[in-house]
Amino acid sequence: MLVWARVEAEDGVCPSCGGRSRRVHSRYHRGLADVSVAGQPVTLRLQVRRFFCDDLDCPIRTFAEQVDGLTAKHARRTSPSRAALEPGGQGGGASGGSAGDGGRPEHPAAAGACAARTRGRDGRGARCR
Ligand SMILES: [Zn+2]
Repeated sequence: MLVWARVEAEDGVCPSCGGRSRRVHSRYHRGLADVSVAGQPVTLRLQVRRFFCDDLDCPIRTFAEQVDGLTAKHARRTSPSRAALEPGGQGGGASGGSAGDGGRPEHPAAAGACAARTRGRDGRGARCR
């Protein structure tokens, strides 16, 4: 999955002089650390704007808007989702079943139940895929 995100604020705060600006110089996209949602790998693409600083005394002309803490927040969220994928967390079968299919969001618990059914039917679990 690919998630596009952007900062909602209409203006940016200059890190040098603290002044606010709404004059957008350019936009670009930043790739953030991948996270995992319900066992599906998710890539975050964040749109970051570069603003002009209107303060003539400011030593910098343009600045990129600040997104401090965002990557740290997601890094913190990644830890529990990683733990859920580790063997033993959800019965061990959750990560193998749905990861390669792609595109279909599936709850880890549902995937685990499916894997359990597959094992019970002695290899005749093709209907689970
Ligand atoms: Zn400035």
